[in-house]
Amino acid sequence: MSRSAHPAGARHADVLPEGHYTAPAEDLNALDPKVWAHTVGRDADGVVTVGGIAVTQLAEEYGTPAYVLDEADFRDRARAWRTAFGADADVFYAGKAFLSRAVVRWLHEEGLNLDVCSGGELATALSAGMPAERIAFHGNNKSPEEIERAVRAGVGRIVLDSFQEIVRVAHVAQTLGKRQRVQIRITVGVEAHTHEFIATAHEDQKFGIPLAGGQAAEAVRRALQLDGLEVIGIHSHIGSQIFDMSGFEVAAHRVVGLLKDIRDEHGVELPEIDLGGGLGIAYTSDDDPREPHEIAKALTEIVTRECEAARLATPRISVEPGRAIVGPTAFTLYEVGTVKPLDGLRTYVSVDGGMSDNIRTALYDAEYSVALASRTSDAEPMLVRVVGKHCESGDIVVKDAFLPGDLAPGDLIAVPATGAYCRSMASNYNHVLRPPVVAVRDGEARVIVRRETEEDLLRLDVG
Ligand SMILES: *Cc1c(COP(=O)(O)O)cnc(C)c1O
Repeated sequence: MSRSAHPAGARHADVLPEGHYTAPAEDLNALDPKVWAHTVGRDADGVVTVGGIAVTQLAEEYGTPAYVLDEADFRDRARAWRTAFGADADVFYAGKAFLSRAVVRWLHEEGLNLDVCSGGELATALSAGMPAERIAFHGNNKSPEEIERAVRAGVGRIVLDSFQEIVRVAHVAQTLGKRQRVQIRITVGVEAHTHEFIATAHEDQKFGIPLAGGQAAEAVRRALQLDGLEVIGIHSHIGSQIFDMSGFEVAAHRVVGLLKDIRDEHGVELPEIDLGGGLGIAYTSDDDPREPHEIAKALTEIVTRECEAARLATPRISVEPGRAIVGPTAFTLYEVGTVKPLDGLRTYVSVDGGMSDNIRTALYDAEYSVALASRTSDAEPMLVRVVGKHCESGDIVVKDAFLPGDLAPGDLIAVPATGAYCRSMASNYNHVLRPPVVAVRDGEARVIVRRETEEDLLRLDVG
């Protein structure tokens, strides 16, 4: 990552180790609204609150570590996406970011659709009452059982990812006497990550069917011939944590190019295109994500312009934000266990969770922010690395951050923007129990996913 601002205000050490630091905020007690959920603030005693409840109270009732989710914020963001895209487009929340039955109900109520990519996610969605026609089924290797369940349930679309799958889904649908609505996922040779995108990326990845070499066109040709399938559109997903719309611009250009080729060859204008998800959020104050209405406007303009140039009717657009909806709505609340200063290096702060509740730092070198949550402090900033309790030196939650120099065992610290890909990627490494998700709204807290127990662990271990 290219962003690196050396910490001008770091007075605690003469020599700072190599690395990328975010300069300490002027006031370490301040909570940047960009990275914290909407209702987060501090009460008169300086304790962080969310939905009107102090984190000290949450820690007492639910224990730590815990994911604390701001339900009002989740609904606000879901609604903002829905409103921004309007009635002529569909917003599919990417369930893999974080899925629970409460979340499914909120999405249903706020008028969003839902992406699932496994039988487990499908079961969760259906059990919470999401209408099957509002569900899209994804994945590069759906099992025959998953395909059958999805077709039987009547999911609104299956996104086909390979030549084999085209045949498999068609066969299942035909056997069940159905015609399954499908999209074909293609790779357009655009790869987008964070602040850069590559328009000529190698299509060297497991997802999708390459546009290059005519493979995508061949996939459409085959799918159109099968009675079990109703081909409704083309799907493209170019990456994650994207801030720059130019990657979507190139992707839309190439997808529309394929739609035009399909029209010319088959006389069919496919009615939908799906541009995937991947819209970025602020993990630190350095990130500047766009608002949903700006993204909707940009994407709609790009597609409309490309279709006019190709003389195609503008198809119905879908988008699939996951992180951008749930990511900013939750923080992880930890209790500090040990504080270990290493002379001339940094201070290691150990918390009661770690890579089992947030693998993103180890897996993607992700950056996070952190704040002292159970009180404020005027102590000098100290450079810290927040680490977990696992037997692994790569067990890092926040690689480089500043916390007050008087931080001590028993303090609560909170890591914001952990709503996406933290609980959903959580593991039992070291037989550490996965934390609960506590949803807070209007002064009330409730557990929507309970903490794992040792009994849960032992129940799976059948000896
Ligand atoms: C992961 C994924 C998404 C969601 O990505 P976010 O970065 O969470 O927005 C959407 N669509 C597809 C096909 C995906 O694989």
